[in-house]
Amino acid sequence: MNNKLYGSLIFELSQPGRRAYSLPHDQFPHYALPEDEQRTTDTVLPECDEMTVVRHYTNHSGNNFGVLNGFYPLGSCTMKYNPPVNEEIANMPAFANLHPLQPDDTTQGALAVEYHLRQALAALTGMADFTLNPCAGAHGELTGLMIIRAYHEQRGDTARRKVIVPDSAHGTNPASAAVCGLEVVEVKSNAQGRVDVDDLKPLLGPDVAAMMMTNPNTLGLFENEIPEIARLVHDCGALMYYDGANLNPMLGVCRPGDMGFDVMHVNLHKTFSTPHGGGGPGSGPVGVRKGLEQFLPRPIVVKEGDRYRLEDPVGRGQVNRPMINVGAWTGNFGIQLRAYAFILSLGREHIKDVGPLATLNANYVKERLKDDYELPISGPCMHEFVFNGLRDKSTGVTTLDVAKRLLDYGFHAPTIYFPLLFHEAMMIEPTENESRDTLDRFIDVMHRIADEARTNPDVVKQAPHNTPITRVDDVLAARHPVLKYCPTHSER
Ligand SMILES: *Cc1c(COP(=O)(O)O)cnc(C)c1O
Repeated sequence: MNNKLYGSLIFELSQPGRRAYSLPHDQFPHYALPEDEQRTTDTVLPECDEMTVVRHYTNHSGNNFGVLNGFYPLGSCTMKYNPPVNEEIANMPAFANLHPLQPDDTTQGALAVEYHLRQALAALTGMADFTLNPCAGAHGELTGLMIIRAYHEQRGDTARRKVIVPDSAHGTNPASAAVCGLEVVEVKSNAQGRVDVDDLKPLLGPDVAAMMMTNPNTLGLFENEIPEIARLVHDCGALMYYDGANLNPMLGVCRPGDMGFDVMHVNLHKTFSTPHGGGGPGSGPVGVRKGLEQFLPRPIVVKEGDRYRLEDPVGRGQVNRPMINVGAWTGNFGIQLRAYAFILSLGREHIKDVGPLATLNANYVKERLKDDYELPISGPCMHEFVFNGLRDKSTGVTTLDVAKRLLDYGFHAPTIYFPLLFHEAMMIEPTENESRDTLDRFIDVMHRIADEARTNPDVVKQAPHNTPITRVDDVLAARHPVLKYCPTHSER
């Protein structure tokens, strides 16, 4: 505690002349850089002794909030518990030290993991096959859209340049379509928070390549008109893309492949547990229905008798198909291992408990908080739901303020200001792992914050008060970002 206080008083730790390393002198040959590549001024770097550096980073690491520190109800991004056994397996030297160029007969175990993971994903989703190549959800979306584009192009149907994306979609959906060189067309949600089929109909035509859908959508609602939507989309010659970033409520209960989706991705790091955040690590396998397997990236693991091997990049005799490849080799193997361990640890009999438990937890929190928080779309939700801020907005306390105040009580904030359908969106996903005690504590705190917002709004508006860094100035940070070391004694 004192350490923290002291640390915050002395922000600049650098002292001229201090060093945090000791290298042998004159042991290395000296090479002179060409004149024009030499610096003319010294770099400005912090100068600290070794203990100061080590303590600086160690203390910072303690300021992280993770799912192992406390409740982390981040809707859509799914911060679920990552069992340590997954880490142990992923860190086994026999896996961790593998090299992709090793001969197949020395990597049979790893190849088997990839092969069986693909089979497990296919069984869980109703797709014919998967590629493990993409390294994130957005990366998977791009891959899936490249597959769809290749499918149309191979049939000579080159006029299909539009992708229909619901207004509730995750931001990566339109971004991936744009990166793929396709045009994004937005379809509206109806008053029940689902895709508006009447708004969709006039958008469909011979220029549409695909429709992207998330189900349950980002409001945590099951899209119950998918059979009709899939029929309309297929009738116009386009394909159905399923954003399965968060497959939690579906596991073992229902399958996108049975609903008429042609191509999809799964976020292994959200659905099948892997510590993620801050941009990685991730894995976004892409599945395709029967008939589209030829477009999957290569190499891919094949099984012959009881042997596994990486198939020749040309693959399956399809010499004329376009090559799609978005990552190195077969993707992010460490994440695949964790996902496979997670799937096997639950097994066929328990994986189907994930969805109902996640759904029960979300509905429990929603029903107990809707007296204080505005629930824009009532009725049962799936694994997550969205409030539109406090019901009583008269004191000016916003969703941002509530999120900051939660930190004071030791809870991570939910996802805020997404989806964009409501001004004060607050998206809560408890996940299947939380006990009723934890949920009750969260509910108590949320009620207490609503109470504070009525009786002492300033305490909420100025939160957080107990964190190492209090309310940051978002506007200043965005206008004048300080992205590199900037010693206090020099010019900014
Ligand atoms: C997280 C998420 C994505 C993007 O996944 P990344 O791994 O972050 O690229 C896409 N769609 C939905 C619905 C998501 O929740």
